[in-house]
Amino acid sequence: MTERTFSIIKPDATKRNLTGKINAVIEESGLRIVAQRRIRMTQEEAEDFYDVHRERPFYGELVEFMISEPVVVQVLQGDNAVARYREVMGATNPAQAADGTIRKLFALSVGENSVHGSDSVDNAKIEIAQFFDEADIVG
Ligand code: ATP
Ligand code: MG
Repeated sequence: MTERTFSIIKPDATKRNLTGKINAVIEESGLRIVAQRRIRMTQEEAEDFYDVHRERPFYGELVEFMISEPVVVQVLQGDNAVARYREVMGATNPAQAADGTIRKLFALSVGENSVHGSDSVDNAKIEIAQFFDEADIVG
């Protein structure tokens, strides 16, 4: 089933000029980048985006990290895009990520882990709507 998922290329990656290399891994996986924009997240956007982690000990650090440098927000489209992109990203902790995954290739640590991808189709819809107008997604 063709689906859409939401992706963020995080500050540790934009800072190291890895946008193109990460996009190459995404495209080689068969996923299509159907919308993309480079932004600086506001503190409020980062807090809202990671609201589910508000009670976790790393929440403050996570929000500070996400606003520390520009990020690239993206909509990816393809067969089973949500699960497929989770596979392409690899485990949250790069030490546990499989060979060839974005996090194995590029991530620095469990916090500075280079990319975000939605964890369900419902959350993908919510996250896409937070950053994109439907008219700006060209599938
Ligand atoms: P994401 O939601 O960014 O795609 P994920 O779903 O693999 O990643 P989550 O459990 O949702 O992981 O955590 C969200 C983000 O919070 C992680 O990607 C990471 O940047 C940060 N994070 C998670 N666990 C830790 C931790 N123990 N210490 C520091 N940061 C963490
Ligand atoms: Mg997550």
